[in-house]
Amino acid sequence: MKKSNYIIKRIALLLAVLLAFLVSSCRTELQKVSKDLTTYTIAAKYDEFNHTISARQKIKYVNNYDVPFKELKLHLYPNAFREGAKIKPVSESAESKAYPQGMSYGDIIINEVYVAGKKAEFNIGGEDRNIMTVKFPMDLYPGASFTIEFDFLLRLAHTPHRLGYTNKCVNLGNWFPIACVYEDGGFATYAYYPNGDPFYSEIANYYIELTLSSDFFVAATGRNTGTRLQGKTKTLNFEALAVRDFAFVLSKEFSSISSSAGNIMVTYFYYDDPEPELYLKAAIDAVNTFSRLFGQYPYPHLNVVKTPFIYGGMEYPCLIYVSDSVTDQDSYIEVIAHEVAHQWWYGVVGNDQVKNGWLDEGLTEYSTSLFFEKNPSYNQKMSNRIMQALQSYLVYVEMCKNVYGEVDTSMNRPSYAYKTEYEYVYMTYVKGELMFYNIRNIIGDKVFFESLKRYYERNKYKIATPKDLIGAFEETSKKDLEGIFDAWLDGKVYLGDW
Ligand SMILES: [Zn+2]
Repeated sequence: MKKSNYIIKRIALLLAVLLAFLVSSCRTELQKVSKDLTTYTIAAKYDEFNHTISARQKIKYVNNYDVPFKELKLHLYPNAFREGAKIKPVSESAESKAYPQGMSYGDIIINEVYVAGKKAEFNIGGEDRNIMTVKFPMDLYPGASFTIEFDFLLRLAHTPHRLGYTNKCVNLGNWFPIACVYEDGGFATYAYYPNGDPFYSEIANYYIELTLSSDFFVAATGRNTGTRLQGKTKTLNFEALAVRDFAFVLSKEFSSISSSAGNIMVTYFYYDDPEPELYLKAAIDAVNTFSRLFGQYPYPHLNVVKTPFIYGGMEYPCLIYVSDSVTDQDSYIEVIAHEVAHQWWYGVVGNDQVKNGWLDEGLTEYSTSLFFEKNPSYNQKMSNRIMQALQSYLVYVEMCKNVYGEVDTSMNRPSYAYKTEYEYVYMTYVKGELMFYNIRNIIGDKVFFESLKRYYERNKYKIATPKDLIGAFEETSKKDLEGIFDAWLDGKVYLGDW
């Protein structure tokens, strides 16, 4: 009795030390990565009666590129929701779903910008008033930083979109001005195209303060570092290190349950859900499965949030939306697995989602099938999923041939070059999944998973390109795979006799 007690105590102590080591090594990596990053500090106030957010935003922008900048360009994604926008955040066919109560509009207003404490020249332009250009008082050299400050007023549309309010929740995705990625001699200034997720940003640090009515529950990308109550309002502080974006979902109706996946706290925020434990477990299984297959999830928490949303789900760093319109259990779990996989492919390893949507969506869709393969209790076989994907793809291609007389099956097009949302989904998600299935068959399991681990490890916190992915597979397999990848991407693989 004494002896077994002693052993249990020793084991408990050992486990506690191990857990503390894991937590601290995780934090140390994030702290190390976060050291020289751009930092966003925002103090925001949500007005629930006018559906607006008034905020003060400060960006300590660090030039982490190798050329000096005379100006900085920032995305103003909320302007896509304004009346008269040329490029709308939904395709025409999805408009009735996005605005079930009738058309509604929103935008973002900025009147003055300060750089290094002095009023700065700025303008709002881009393809569709989607870009703010801030002039610097002098060249910003590599490694140097400027502090940019401004107030903004965000007006929300009544819509279950990534950004908007409904009677249940307030979705705050892509809600604040965020710096454009610099590449190939210029800033990437993509508009809010309706196909895919047109967002593109670098890893940064975030310190966000949110003041709102005290009866709201808040799910956030960041870790809650403090809460102050002031009468009927409360102010919450959040911190997120080395993340690609920062999102919130607010609701007065949320319940939540949490449990840990190793040293990661996973929380499910929900309403009207008789089986929350099932979905929390699916999220935990997904985090554990992908950490094992690809490499460790580096953040201290992950929030899975049920919310009104026009698509199945949406990924933000450390926070995913799962649409309350997904009512059957299998599909709900599939959405959770897909959006959790995006934490690896989009979140930690970034990519240009407009130019190479297949790079995160194709790999994420295949990762979703891997989740089911490695967790047979969810009763979805990898082979069935691949067969269904193939059949559905072939039916789509046949239908296009009949209707349009031809079909472009290339995957290496920017999202705005696809004729329809269906074409984008079939070429990027479905065909992307089939491509990774094919590559795995060619190089075998061991090399396939080693390649993905290598791709993850090398491109963590960076922006990866197709070359980085193909390179990781080629180096690991010691095979020339460019031809087979190119055949898939160029639309030259014939799938009719698979
Ligand atoms: Zn996705």
